[in-house]
Amino acid sequence: MHRESCPFCRIIEGYADAEILFEGPDSVAFLDINPINFGHALVVSREHYSNFLELPDMVLNDLTNTLRIVSRAIIDSVRPAGFNIFNNNGLAAGQSVFHFHFHIAPRYDGDGLKIRPHVKVYESPEHMAEYAKKIRDKIKVNYKSGEQNESL
Ligand SMILES: [Zn+2]
Repeated sequence: MHRESCPFCRIIEGYADAEILFEGPDSVAFLDINPINFGHALVVSREHYSNFLELPDMVLNDLTNTLRIVSRAIIDSVRPAGFNIFNNNGLAAGQSVFHFHFHIAPRYDGDGLKIRPHVKVYESPEHMAEYAKKIRDKIKVNYKSGEQNESL
């Protein structure tokens, strides 16, 4: 369905090449062609979902299972000093392909990648509490209504 426009759908449907690493019922893992470090893998949903909030529970479970299998294999074969698992949602977060995917990025001491620079400081405990309240209140509302998905 998204074969024409989505590079990951093209890979999954066999219309584009990729170094496939593993396939689960609802997930596919392959190497990122623009790696942070060699062995950098992507774990993508087999069906086209744009972002994390759209994923059905069953698909998320299979993605998580595949993440563990592939992370383990990367650690045991490529032998990085560590690894990051991350997922970008929305342009502002650096998402470039709008088909859900987790990254597994092998890491080494001093490889130059900064995942978490501290760019903001809360002005006060009250300022921090304000954000916590805003988020907790929304969790209560969403749980009550049974609503879990809101588009980005
Ligand atoms: Zn797609």
